[in-house]
Amino acid sequence: MHEYTDQTRALAADILRYAEERLRMDPVPLDAPLTKDQLDEIAGGAITPRGRGGVAALDLFAEKLAPACLSIDHPRYLSFIPCAPTREAAMFDLVVGASSIYAGSWLEGAGAVYAENQALRWIADLAGFPEQAGGSFVQGGTIGNLSALVTARATAREQAAEGVRPYRIAATVGSHSSIATACRVMDAEQVQVPVNDRMQLTGERLREVLLEHGPETFFAVVATAGSTNFGIVDDLASVAEVCAEFGIWFHVDGAYGGAGLAAPSIRAKYAGIERADSFIVDPHKWLFAPFDCCALIYREPALARVAHTQHATYLDVLNDAPEWNPTDYSVGLTRRARGLPFWFSLVANGTDAYTAAIEHTLAVARFAQREVERRPYVEVVRDADLTVLVFRRLGWSTEDYYAWSDKLLADQVGFVVPTSHEGETLARFAIVNPKTTEDDIRVLLDSMA
Ligand SMILES: *Cc1c(COP(=O)(O)O)cnc(C)c1O
Repeated sequence: MHEYTDQTRALAADILRYAEERLRMDPVPLDAPLTKDQLDEIAGGAITPRGRGGVAALDLFAEKLAPACLSIDHPRYLSFIPCAPTREAAMFDLVVGASSIYAGSWLEGAGAVYAENQALRWIADLAGFPEQAGGSFVQGGTIGNLSALVTARATAREQAAEGVRPYRIAATVGSHSSIATACRVMDAEQVQVPVNDRMQLTGERLREVLLEHGPETFFAVVATAGSTNFGIVDDLASVAEVCAEFGIWFHVDGAYGGAGLAAPSIRAKYAGIERADSFIVDPHKWLFAPFDCCALIYREPALARVAHTQHATYLDVLNDAPEWNPTDYSVGLTRRARGLPFWFSLVANGTDAYTAAIEHTLAVARFAQREVERRPYVEVVRDADLTVLVFRRLGWSTEDYYAWSDKLLADQVGFVVPTSHEGETLARFAIVNPKTTEDDIRVLLDSMA
């Protein structure tokens, strides 16, 4: 199985053909999950002592398992935050997989790390971060947020007065669930700052909460640039001001919305992000990279190295070198060059194409809002800041929303799951796929009439 035989050659052709056909489908079939029992029936016992051969294994995947996975890049997949990789990024993922690159250290993966850092630099420049800024690509926003917060805490405790151990994070109800998860992992306490009437975190309310609890007990403030449920961008400038006043680490979670930095029509919403100590963006969300890919960027990467570098005699050869080791900036040691498909697509397409694609999704989201406003049976819950639109179907119960969503999937029309806000079930569109059209929006809204 490590030799390249005639069988391998045949399999390579099959695999490349399969991948090429999948990338060419337009649209891709939406597909749908099966139950464990159903999958047992059609794919149970696949692993045998003697093996089935690559062609049979590929057939099993293509015929039985792939159709039981939703196509996240389907133009009417508007649930959660979809993922719509560019053809170039998706294709290059094959190359990364074939290349056995260890991208944890410069020594082992210099070329890949150099390229990943170029892609990080593009994002850092969009945010207006200084020359020394940097970080790495991690699995996702959850690990990105956790890693940044671990750095924030280590830094705060290093700088705190004798006997003071900051243990709190200030965030809001709109913060992503991964912030609460990070707090559990770190045994930290999340203090909720009330939001304003636009559902944003603001410096004014933050200041009150910090003073009420004692600013010295906080090691980080988390602002969200594009909340997952509503796409809300917090008032970053006023938050930055208060963080500076109290000397508290300012982290911006832009896992979904950070991509909007590349869109001139909404760039002003992010004013203040340039003052963050750390921020994240998931290219696998609105920057068209395949799973899994989160850009984690620090203003002062040296602080992250102190918090995250693993030490052991067998690692001395890496740690004693002055070069950039991506593994030093996050939780985790071994890492694939997960930023490379994104880098490749940036090089191939140019950044203007990214700006155009993001602006296009914004235009479709604005169209969706106008359509909802125009139709008498639906109403907008809150104006869309970015490309998430939450709206109400007048007269529907929770069961109605779920029945509608189930039927859309059963009919292979779309995948749009309901959300909820303050106990009310609501409809939600998250539009990050440039292939989602105004017509798709019409079809989905028609289905609610
Ligand atoms: C998706 C998301 C996360 C978590 O990112 P993963 O890549 O799913 O781990 C964190 N914050 C926000 C705002 C998100 O939208």
